[in-house]
Amino acid sequence: MAIERTFSIIKPDATARNLTGAVNAMIEKAGLRIVAQKRIRMSRAEAETFYAVHRERPFFGELVEFMISAPVVVQVLEGDNAVAKYREVMGATDPAKAEEGTIRKVHARSIGENTVHGSDAPETAVMEIAQFFSGNEIVG
Ligand code: GDP
Repeated sequence: MAIERTFSIIKPDATARNLTGAVNAMIEKAGLRIVAQKRIRMSRAEAETFYAVHRERPFFGELVEFMISAPVVVQVLEGDNAVAKYREVMGATDPAKAEEGTIRKVHARSIGENTVHGSDAPETAVMEIAQFFSGNEIVG
């Protein structure tokens, strides 16, 4: 299986509750390696660009406000099949529908405040990583 990278965000609901370490423990336990990580305050422009695909959705404004409401931790995760594996570890978007033991089942508060982001495809991961990290910040 190919070693792959995915992009992750530990979202404001998690940093506000001091859950960065708890989320990272679940990521590492699943066999994914955190090869880049930084805590940032996302700007409105960055959040709007990042979620541009959802611009027409009714929750877009709420989503942007949430993402800039507190610090986030942006990360690059590496491992076999990292994109799909992290989606599994995260669980469904709506925590009520997430599998037991997933990050969102354990920690998320609602469909909006759902603790983590993970890329949905390898091509998206490349673009998302490039939005927040330069090459020399990623150390595999
Ligand atoms: P993901 O790939 O599982 O994160 O889900 P999506 O790409 O469908 O949605 C992106 C993000 O938008 C989600 O992680 C949520 O934070 C947010 N979101 C999705 N649906 C809703 C909704 O119905 N209400 C609100 N407030 N936020 C939502």
